[in-house]
Amino acid sequence: MTTNSAPIQLDPLIGWPSRNALSVALLIGLLTFGLALLGIVTRPLGLLAAFWPANAVLLGVFVRHPRAAKLPSWIGALAGFVAADLLTGSTWTKSLLLTAGNFAFILVGLLIYQTQRDEIRLLRRPESIVYLVLVIVAGALAEGAVGTVINPILFHGSAEAGFSYWFSAELANALAIVPVILALPTWRASSPESFRLARFRPSAEWVPAAVFVASTVIAIKLDDPGSIAYPIPALLWCAISYRLFTTSLLTSGYGIAMLLCISTGQLHLGDSTSDLHTLLALRIAIALIALAPLMVASVMGTRNALLKQLQHLATHDPLTDALNRGGLMDRADALMQQLHTARQAVSVLMLDIDHFKSVNDQHGHAAGDRVLREFAYIVHGMLRDTDIFGRVGGEEFVVVLPNCDQANAWRIAERIRTQFGQHELSANPAAPLRATVSIGIASAEIAEPALGAMLPNADAALYQAKHAGRDRIVAASAG
Ligand code: GH3
Ligand code: MG
Ligand code: MG
Repeated sequence: MTTNSAPIQLDPLIGWPSRNALSVALLIGLLTFGLALLGIVTRPLGLLAAFWPANAVLLGVFVRHPRAAKLPSWIGALAGFVAADLLTGSTWTKSLLLTAGNFAFILVGLLIYQTQRDEIRLLRRPESIVYLVLVIVAGALAEGAVGTVINPILFHGSAEAGFSYWFSAELANALAIVPVILALPTWRASSPESFRLARFRPSAEWVPAAVFVASTVIAIKLDDPGSIAYPIPALLWCAISYRLFTTSLLTSGYGIAMLLCISTGQLHLGDSTSDLHTLLALRIAIALIALAPLMVASVMGTRNALLKQLQHLATHDPLTDALNRGGLMDRADALMQQLHTARQAVSVLMLDIDHFKSVNDQHGHAAGDRVLREFAYIVHGMLRDTDIFGRVGGEEFVVVLPNCDQANAWRIAERIRTQFGQHELSANPAAPLRATVSIGIASAEIAEPALGAMLPNADAALYQAKHAGRDRIVAASAG
């Protein structure tokens, strides 16, 4: 599953299929059929469904996969809706009219969403929630408009009641379900950068969810219309503890549980529920209440991604993406303290590019920058995830190798030296450019508790390597 980075185009809605469009259409048809059946079997006898996930799921799927929203898929969805209706005893006329309402919602929602960037559509920004509401309200209004026409025809009710019923049902369902589908992590989106949220304490991760479930159960058990708001504090807690997708799942669970409990009469809300208007208003209230945690989760997601970016900028050198001096010292000291406590070995490499000043002088500063980047790239490629690599001066770098004795450190240094020395560094074939590096090694069988205690030895070894003619490695006698 991948995310489409291009905004949705109008033409996929009516365009002709690519080669696997028929299997996509079949899948859409089966999905629609299954979800429509689910809506039909959970509805109160003789009434319209209060829990109707099909429209919201289809909108979510089409927004995420615009290329799936082609004519065969619409035909598949149509077939799915009609088949579910016919199987459960509806007439053709009734089924087609109800399907028109479903399509009105999906089409209007999709048409509005196509104007938005991926970031907005996939709930990666706080203002996404505002667009989400806009899209869903517009889609629900369109469906309500169809309701005004079909309520008198199918149920001999008033146009106004038709509007209220279709509008409120769609609003409640869509607000509960669409966010989950839009926030579903993709390969790209599930990378730590964009999605992982702050946690209070890893060991107590399940607590906000448990409190949410408990407060939802209590809300359902209580005989009070206000009880629908009882789970909200717990949902807000979840919103700052979990990632957006998890929060949207819990919010959706809340919405669906409340809708089902209202439609099955399990949620006793007193005498006021005899009034249809109150019932519809409650339904909308549930949907709107659930927006707050979604907004919080979305803001938290943006904030955490920004913090991560800022932290990276503060600790890394922008030219080479190696750690800067501060980042290196912090990370290396923490690592060496651990190694020291565990009485484990460490090696420190000090690396300095030879005659770098003349590289700049002869090839220009830009070429010098390029050499630095290439050097960092080569070193990065040779290190383990647990090794630490930082730039401590213009063309001076430090590598910290945990659990690495002097012999192994030498092997790694030698690989860096030969690979860098053989690497063509010029982007211009007419002016070839090679450079070499000198490396000093300091090793300790039991790590010192801080990097600063080992740098002088590595530096002295580097000085000897320079003095002995450069392009070589010298190891300080092991301490
Ligand atoms: P040695 O072999 O003794 O290390 O000689 P060297 O020329 O490499 O050392 P020296 O310290 O004399 O020169 C370092 C040069 O690195 C001087 C400085 O202009 C250059 N330099 C420092 N930072 C940067 C940078 O970010 N980009 C570029 N292109 N050059 C830089
Ligand atoms: Mg140098
Ligand atoms: Mg230098």
